[in-house]
Amino acid sequence: MANPFDINRPLRVAVIGSGPSGIYAAEALIKQSEIPVSVDVFDRLPTPFGLVRYGVAPDHQTIKSVTKVMQKVLQDPRVRFLGHVAYGRDLSQADLRRFYDAVIYAVGASSDRHLDIPGEELPGNLSATEFVAWYNGHPDYQNLPLRLDVKGVAVVGMGNVAVDVTRILAKSASELAQTDIADHALAVLAESQVTDIYMLGRRGPAQAKFTTKELRELGELANADIVVRPEELELDAQSAAWLEGQPALLRNLEVLREFAAKPLAGKPRRIHLRFLVSPVEILGQGRVERIRLEKNRLDEKMNAVGTRVFEELEVGLVLRSVGYKGVPLPEVPFDERKGIIPNREGRVLREGQVSPGEYTAGWIKRGPSGVIGTNKADAAETVRLLLEDAPHLPQAPEPQPEALTEHLKRKGVAFVTLEHWLRLDQLECARGQAQGRPRVKVTRLEEMLAEAKA
Ligand SMILES: Cc1cc2nc3c(=O)[nH]c(=O)nc-3n(C[C@H](O)[C@H](O)[C@H](O)COP(=O)(O)OP(=O)(O)OC[C@H]3O[C@@H](n4cnc5c(N)ncnc54)[C@H](O)[C@@H]3O)c2cc1C
Repeated sequence: MANPFDINRPLRVAVIGSGPSGIYAAEALIKQSEIPVSVDVFDRLPTPFGLVRYGVAPDHQTIKSVTKVMQKVLQDPRVRFLGHVAYGRDLSQADLRRFYDAVIYAVGASSDRHLDIPGEELPGNLSATEFVAWYNGHPDYQNLPLRLDVKGVAVVGMGNVAVDVTRILAKSASELAQTDIADHALAVLAESQVTDIYMLGRRGPAQAKFTTKELRELGELANADIVVRPEELELDAQSAAWLEGQPALLRNLEVLREFAAKPLAGKPRRIHLRFLVSPVEILGQGRVERIRLEKNRLDEKMNAVGTRVFEELEVGLVLRSVGYKGVPLPEVPFDERKGIIPNREGRVLREGQVSPGEYTAGWIKRGPSGVIGTNKADAAETVRLLLEDAPHLPQAPEPQPEALTEHLKRKGVAFVTLEHWLRLDQLECARGQAQGRPRVKVTRLEEMLAEAKA
């Protein structure tokens, strides 16, 4: 079938979510020249960039600078950014069909997995997801009930997010004050009484998910010593054999051995990297006071198996970092077990069949793994299939861009445009410059909207 789209009637695409995958999808759409496109990128927040703004650690500004390239995509005349518009609240399935030829769901994975152990309901047990969103100034998390008048903190997990969380807890207030960490978080962290942070991994050092660069950084902190038990670095036969073909993991082990051999320098805080332990219970009278761990061994498939040997750590805060999880969108199919939208290379499946005009990209397509750049190839795959399907898609009855914005206005949706976002961005950067920081984030939703539209 011939391509029915031209410059006067471009292919209209809605991208739901302006994180890396949504923006890379928009970029892939405008980079091709075969089918003229007009793309609306929505976000439920007034700010674009998803986890680059609200996930990536505030002391990793070089990584956050990827937003400069992403912003260029939003500035392309074929792309509109429409912030503070949530699919499921302000936009329905019927709206998408009415105004767009195709939709790409790129909403990320905003929830987290639980430990499923007794005591998880105690105050002082939180997810890393919440803690990260809080210190990065996500408007939904500014009132997180977090107390740092405690000595010990358990961070459950051995991935890069667990490393980020540990590093932020270990750094001094003066180190953090140079970043764009949210002011409310800086105030609490400046008063922190924390002396010991325990990162807990259920499997051994060979199975830890962090990358060497992030691990090494933990050993270079001005404010914290690192404690590793040499006996927990001993490898079982399977892990040793398996590691032979894994240079990145071998490097991790080398760094861990260096840490274990290094004498403590007497810094104010200590980071304990503990392997082969599983939390089995969180204990306390009315709030977290201790965590009970079971020592593990690895079976022949390198799975953790409890040994019935237990110990307890005195901790007043538990932050679990055992994986992010997608949440279902109204009227969109969802695979509960995998926490993703069921799809075939990005084509959404409804009851096992490809649903014409519906696509997905990023964490909600493949699950919460991979770095920012991983989403580029992932989104490109989705867009390639969308463009392949384009000539056969049912066409939207009201494809004019103004039809959508008029509809939102009629519904009273206070959407934010790119211009609005740029104004807020400028304000944050100016406030930051005055304090020698990259930016000072506005974190209250009402204030974000007011400043953006000032
Ligand atoms: C704590 C943490 C630290 C990380 N650090 C790094 C790092 O240092 N380097 C690196 O390369 N990678 C890092 N990553 C990974 C990287 O952030 C992800 O790969 C990437 O953000 C996933 O992109 P995404 O677009 O799928 O999801 P997201 O970035 O989560 O974007 C999804 C967007 O969809 C929006 N949305 C959700 N629901 C709706 C709705 N109903 N309607 C409209 N909009 C909606 C959200 O507001 C959000 O803006 C980190 C991840 C985490 C969690």
